[in-house]
Amino acid sequence: MNKSIKERIMQIVGKNNFLDSDEDRLCYSFDATPEYKQLPEAVVFPESEEQISKILKLANEGSFNVVPRGAGTGLSGGSVPVENSVVIVMTKWDKILEIDSQNLTATVQPGVITAHLQNEVEKIGLFYPPDPGSSSVCTIGGNVANNAGGLRGLKYGVTKNYVLGTEMVLPNGDLLSTGGKNVKDTAGYNLRDFVVGSEGTLGIITKIILKLIPKPTESVTMLAYFDKLNSSAKAVSEIISAHITPSMMEFLDHTTINCVEDYTQIGLPRNSEAILLVEVDGRGSIVKEDAETITKILKKNNASIVRTAQNMKEALNLKAARRSAFSALARRRPTTILEDATVPRSELPVLIEKVIEAGNKFDVMFGNFGHAGDGNLHPTCLTDERDKAEIERAHKAFDFIFNEAIILGGTITGEHGTGLAKKHFLEQVAGIPGVEMMKKIKSVIDENNILNPGKIFTIAPRCEGTLPFSRSQIGSFK
Ligand SMILES: Cc1cc2nc3c(=O)[nH]c(=O)nc-3n(C[C@H](O)[C@H](O)[C@H](O)COP(=O)(O)OP(=O)(O)OC[C@H]3O[C@@H](n4cnc5c(N)ncnc54)[C@H](O)[C@@H]3O)c2cc1C
Repeated sequence: MNKSIKERIMQIVGKNNFLDSDEDRLCYSFDATPEYKQLPEAVVFPESEEQISKILKLANEGSFNVVPRGAGTGLSGGSVPVENSVVIVMTKWDKILEIDSQNLTATVQPGVITAHLQNEVEKIGLFYPPDPGSSSVCTIGGNVANNAGGLRGLKYGVTKNYVLGTEMVLPNGDLLSTGGKNVKDTAGYNLRDFVVGSEGTLGIITKIILKLIPKPTESVTMLAYFDKLNSSAKAVSEIISAHITPSMMEFLDHTTINCVEDYTQIGLPRNSEAILLVEVDGRGSIVKEDAETITKILKKNNASIVRTAQNMKEALNLKAARRSAFSALARRRPTTILEDATVPRSELPVLIEKVIEAGNKFDVMFGNFGHAGDGNLHPTCLTDERDKAEIERAHKAFDFIFNEAIILGGTITGEHGTGLAKKHFLEQVAGIPGVEMMKKIKSVIDENNILNPGKIFTIAPRCEGTLPFSRSQIGSFK
């Protein structure tokens, strides 16, 4: 990128909001997805829609690409810079603009940390349910752009179920406003839902109106240990068949249990093949009744122990086992590839068997955990990216797992998005007409393909080698 362009960008955002030293560019060259890295030309922290608009207009003059970024916790490479790009970081947009307790909405800037919003609304008896494992660091803007899920998806759904309206600067610099506080709105195409899950490819989100609900007043949290993996799967099916919808039903396998126990030393049984974390919540005595029914089902399916939290502190301790799964697994080997295969929930036991088969067949180590009630598994390969042969085997194992998930009627990602990591699978799940339609939408909204190009799918890139195409073709540092 030539110096005069950099100077023009600096004039737009001001010197204090512009970074381009090697050290700073390095810090923004990756997200939480292993293997993908690319140095941006510059990193900026715009302070207004007008500044964002000016940067995008400048990019359209033909000189650079733009990559939006929240906290950089994404697991599909969505905020990894592409070649010749400026990263727009939205973390300074961190204000909760309004909590409207009459309309049960919160209006927020995109850089608000998810857990911060949750805590603030809970102080006044309201509840924002989407709860990604990264909630203490990720941003609402990143959640909306990735349609993030989380631990409470089974009962409460995912981010898209809570987005009522958005404001977004389009790639041509115009401001698009979608939705609003109305509970109902059927005027024209539902553009709001284009924004949710657009992974920073259709615009830069600057404001979000979210739906809130009343906070559940009771909850019961249980942790059940199983000697046999199959028994835990049967317990999940039976709980669902009993027409109880827990707010959480999370699963950890043997490898994950042992990594978590090494890390947290909270007394998890190292011999167990599986743990289920189950929480029910709501209002009134029904919560206790559901918890009792669930305990019976867990025991009937040979849970060796069922621990029930007696108070909030104990509940948080039980949940710590699940919340620390990723960090605990990441300590085992230098590279942790956490994936996101999803199947109809009845097929989850088969998918887990397939992950075990993949590990044996390709001689790589997997830990499994995930959202059992949603059929959303996070097969996590513990590997070392410096060992090229092992990494190649890991990729083959994931190809095998995703193909099996698709055969089972599942999909390549339940919540982490397509980004760079899954784009080569997209056609298999969306079909050629589906991907073609996505490309047409992108081409109309982003005529010059300047905004996060090459994420989700590839449209003929403006600059040669714009991005890494798969994990095995890793973007280089320049
Ligand atoms: C330990 C751990 C646990 C996790 N657990 C979960 C989980 O349970 N559920 C889940 O769904 N995910 C989970 N994730 C993945 C990740 O946290 C989510 O995808 C999250 O939504 C990303 O938010 P972010 O602010 O970090 O966004 P980033 O990673 O910075 O960006 C994600 C995408 O959003 C785009 N983007 C960001 N901000 C904007 C904006 N203002 N406008 C337009 N586009 C934007 C980026 O371009 C990128 O494509 C986990 C990650 C980690 C590391």
